This record gives sequence, structure tokens and C-alpha cells, in this order.
Amino acid sequence: MHNIDAYRPIVGSDVIDEMFLLAKHLEGRSILNVNSTAVGGGVAEILNRMIPLCRDMGLNAQWEVIQGGEDFYAVTKKFHNALHGDPQTVTARDYEVYEETTEENLSRLNLDADVVFIHDPQPAALVRKRKMLRNSWLWRCHIDLSRRDPQVWDFLKPYVEMYDACVFSAPAFAQTLSIPQVLIAPSIDPLSDKNRELPPEEIETILQRLQIPTDKPLVTQVSRFDRLKDPLGVIQAFQKVKPYVEARLILVGGSADDDPEGARVLEEVREKAHADPDILVLCLPPTSHREINAIQRASTVIFQKSLREGFGLTVSEALWKGKPVIAGAVGGIPLQIAHKYSGILVHSVEGAAYWLKQLLHEPAYAKKLGENGRETVRQNFLITRHLRDYMLLFLSAGRLDETMIRL
Ligand code: UDP
Repeated sequence: MHNIDAYRPIVGSDVIDEMFLLAKHLEGRSILNVNSTAVGGGVAEILNRMIPLCRDMGLNAQWEVIQGGEDFYAVTKKFHNALHGDPQTVTARDYEVYEETTEENLSRLNLDADVVFIHDPQPAALVRKRKMLRNSWLWRCHIDLSRRDPQVWDFLKPYVEMYDACVFSAPAFAQTLSIPQVLIAPSIDPLSDKNRELPPEEIETILQRLQIPTDKPLVTQVSRFDRLKDPLGVIQAFQKVKPYVEARLILVGGSADDDPEGARVLEEVREKAHADPDILVLCLPPTSHREINAIQRASTVIFQKSLREGFGLTVSEALWKGKPVIAGAVGGIPLQIAHKYSGILVHSVEGAAYWLKQLLHEPAYAKKLGENGRETVRQNFLITRHLRDYMLLFLSAGRLDETMIRL
């Protein structure tokens, strides 16, 4: 019995059988993932589930995390924001810091796997090493590049074009590049502690332990404390609606090792929420998967009011729990939510406030949105579909000009 067999009742046996077929063809090939943090944020969330599942299927999957100082992560956070379309001042010294840290990591890491799978801009320049190696290199971009700042992109693009191919999460993120571009959406794991079913008693115990009162409906946003997740916009929307509804707002967040801005944003959020007894700000350690699961399940409405978003795993996490989600119509979020069918897409604080009031007043409609959302996630955004797509990509690595791969 493999762990992957537990997914059969959720996605169907044909899906799992096909995955075993693909895995068999990858036997003996090593796949090395490299990113910039082991905990915090969506990429680490996915890799923490994906790597054990790959190994369970017999793949030789490895995961390395690059190392860098505070100055490096300050630079790569600027890159992140700029690539998401939020202008930054990037200095010549910033680029030097990026190059120097790349060199340090190149001397530390063994990149001699059959497939080197690099995630996001932080480790992208490791591809310099590929001239000395005869393996396949793939770049997985989790960022919405549709409004990218040209300066940072012009710096990164020559590195990106040294890869065999790159992977984007949504069609709108595709770029003019000399290498093939592949479309693969991220996913959530329905059997992880973050997403598995929880008995009501367990939810209750967790909420009590976290001192979250349940006397009023809970409205929640789970996100790193990052300006692009717009926690202050969520507070504004909630406060507009408060005179008309009974509800509590919870902003749940934590930090990521590669995000140096979190503490500052958390401080601003605390300051804004401070005077309102109906707003709770919770900062949880990055291992709090069951706690976040319980809070999402105990919520009546979930916000993901991002201003920019690569994909937004938190949206699929909430939809999978059958929750109505009000989310920013940005990045990969519209892939997950069809407006007024599987959730609500908003463009402003006013829109978010309007829909929060509607959903709290119309529970039957809110329930229907959640049900449709869960089905959308089952069909499109579970880890089994994601792993299948990755296996097809690894199989085609090095043969991307061929039109057919025989299994
Ligand atoms: N997350 C978490 N603790 C937090 C905040 C977020 O475990 O305090 C998780 C969240 O449940 C999700 C991931 O981190 O699985 C965030 O991924 P997403 O794609 O939503 O955003 P990112 O942080 O990658 O921009």
C-alpha cells in the first residue's frame, strides 16, 4: 500500500493508476527542487507535501534550500514585489548582493541531478552552473509576471533563458521568451493537516486553545503579513460592514524565512486593529497547519483580498472546506473563482464590504458558492493533478522539441 492510494476515493482510481504509469517511466532519474525557504508561504507548503508523495511513488526527488543573509532576502523581496508590478528602487549594489549569494550557494550545492527544478527568482541564477553539467534545468515561476517591472525582469530574463523551459501558473503570466513555457497551476493536498477533515470537537478544542470566541460568525483571512495581501484593506472592509452585521474578523498570519517585511506589516495591522474588540490578529508559528485548518473550518466567510497574487493557495484551501470566499480579482485567483459561481471576486474595499454583508445575510447563497468552489478544487487544484503534470514535465525535460512522448 502506497500513501498515494489514500487519494483514490477523492480523485478516482484512474487518476492514481495513470500516475503510477508515469512514475514508472521516471524510475532512476533524480529530480532536485531548489527554493528559498523550507517554511512559510505557498512554495514551501507545496514542496513539503509534494516531495514525500514523489518518493512514495518511487521517484528520486530531493529538495534543497538556498542560504542567504538578511541583505539577500531584502533584495529578493524587492525583486518579488517588482515582478508582481509594485515598483521598487533596486540599486546596483542590490544586484551585486544577489550575484554574490548565488555564487556562495553554487559552491555549497550539488546540482548534479538529472532534472534541476528551480523555484522562483531567489535561486534562479544558479542556472549559471549548467554549462558545466549535462542535465535538464526547469524554472518554476510562482509569481504573476503580467505587470512586472521591466528593470528587474530585464536583469533576470537572460538567466531564465538559460533554462530548458519555464513553468507559469496562469496563461496571463506568460512572457516573450526564447524557451518553451509550460502552464501548470499549483495545488493543495486534501490529506494534509492543513486540509484534511477535522472532527467538530477538535475544531472546538483548537479554537478554545487559541482563545478565539465563537459567539459571533467568524470572517477570516489567512496570509503572511504582506502588503500585497492587503490586510489593512480587509480591516477597512470589515469596519464598513460592522454596523450592519454581527461578526468577528480574524487575521491569521505568520512569517516566512525569506520575507523580511512581515514584522513591519504585522505592526501596522496590530495598530489598526487595536481599538476594535471584534478584530483578532493572530500570529502563529509556521507549523500551525491544524490550527489554520480549524480556523478556516470554523469561519463563515473567508477573505483573500490580495492586491497581487501568484496563485493564492489559501483560496483553494478555503474552497475545499466548502467556504464562501471573497477574493481580489488578481493573479491566479480568477483561475480558482468564477465570480458569483464558486466565490466572489472583488476590486476594492467597497466591493469587499458589499459582498461581506451580502454573504452574511444570505447563508444559502454563501453555502452554494462554497459547494461549487469545493468541486472546482476537486477537479483542478488537488496535488494529484499537480504531481501528474510535473511528472509529464520531467518526462519531457530535455525533449521539449518533440511533439510526442511514448509511455
Ligand atoms: N500559511 C500558513 N500560516 C500563515 C500564513 C499562511 O501556514 O500564517 C499558509 C497558507 O495556509 C498557504 C500558504 O501558507 O498554504 C500561503 O500560500 P499562498 O499561495 O496563499 O501565498 P504566498 O504566501 O505563497 O504568497
